[in-house]
Amino acid sequence: RVKEKWAATRAKYPPTTLALQHFDATYGVQLGQQWPSVRVALLSERKYGALFNNFSHDAALADLEALGCRDFIRDIDAEAQPCPEQESKVVAEGESICVSMKKSDADGQQLSPLQLSPHIKCLVFPRGDITRFKPAKPDMLGLLGYYLMDAASVLPCLALNVQEGHNVLDLCAAPGGKSLALLQSQCIGFLCVNDSSVSRTTRLKKVLHSYVPKQLLTDEKLRVTSFDGTKWGEIERNTFDRVLVDVPCTTDRHSLMEDDNNIFSKIRTGERRKLPQLQAELLLAGIQAACPGGEIVYSTCTLSQNQNMSVVEQAVHSARENHGIHLQVVDLQPFTHMFRKTFNFAPDLPVGEMVIPHLTANFGPIYMCKLRRLT
Ligand code: SAM
Repeated sequence: RVKEKWAATRAKYPPTTLALQHFDATYGVQLGQQWPSVRVALLSERKYGALFNNFSHDAALADLEALGCRDFIRDIDAEAQPCPEQESKVVAEGESICVSMKKSDADGQQLSPLQLSPHIKCLVFPRGDITRFKPAKPDMLGLLGYYLMDAASVLPCLALNVQEGHNVLDLCAAPGGKSLALLQSQCIGFLCVNDSSVSRTTRLKKVLHSYVPKQLLTDEKLRVTSFDGTKWGEIERNTFDRVLVDVPCTTDRHSLMEDDNNIFSKIRTGERRKLPQLQAELLLAGIQAACPGGEIVYSTCTLSQNQNMSVVEQAVHSARENHGIHLQVVDLQPFTHMFRKTFNFAPDLPVGEMVIPHLTANFGPIYMCKLRRLT
């Protein structure tokens, strides 16, 4: 009898199990007593948000509100009084909400206002309500009414604080959820969306065409490219007012749930170990692509300190030492404080802010850190 070949070659543990073992070892230490509850949330069904599409004529907003959904960007915590010691304030200005933010190393410098776009709307079911969204419907022009994504993924787009006429780069853009959120602001002068994967860039183009009218996807308004983002600083430096660097990471939720295309599979070990280096190179390229005075948001969907804070520290150090670019870390706490009704945030990270999954608010993980170029 011939022994079945797979018996000898089959992996002892599937990648999802390897991911859980890895997270138990690292996050158990990093998050301490919090880890068991985060672990349960990560292993449970995630919660989505519906990014409302302003370009669609479908009555999606009214329909979603009738189901009990609310726009988390407008439904901010009434008690969200920013800490006085941070010299920050929240004031309502017409429909838009304005948050002043102190820079972490501000030496008497001016506070910079962060205005939440009145046009970006993301609907969620209330805390503890795990109702699922139905797929979005096309309107008479074929444009879909909303895009389903982790609602916490909208936060880096809001933190980017895009203003009228800005030149914006989304360095790792596919499949396009965050690009779409940025476009909803309806104030971008020019948007450049890039992703090194050709197949994912094709998907990104499909997403854009399903949500945005053709007249807004012209060469004067949008450029879609498929370059290696790490090389961007060599091609187009000091150009963009805003840069989003939403890097590839261990995608913690996916790694725990899906064996297919899992970064914890044995054959991808080398790729996984090199992630922090790739992330730092992408962030550095994004920093170089921004203009002096421009702002950069770095984001991931992992809880890993090595892929979050350590990467930011490495890129900021390299920008200063190797390229003479000085940066400021912008304090996002007054900003995240407003959304604590919807999301569960990590308390007091030294650099950046993080949405931590929780059973009653099962969004994230999303880490984000905002940098401002001083030179
Ligand atoms: N921002 C996207 C969104 O909101 O839909 C998700 C981006 S995903 C977390 C990271 C992306 O980085 C992947 O699509 C991957 O193909 C892309 N990527 C990986 N290496 C890259 C590189 N060197 N340059 C540019 N993009 C890269």
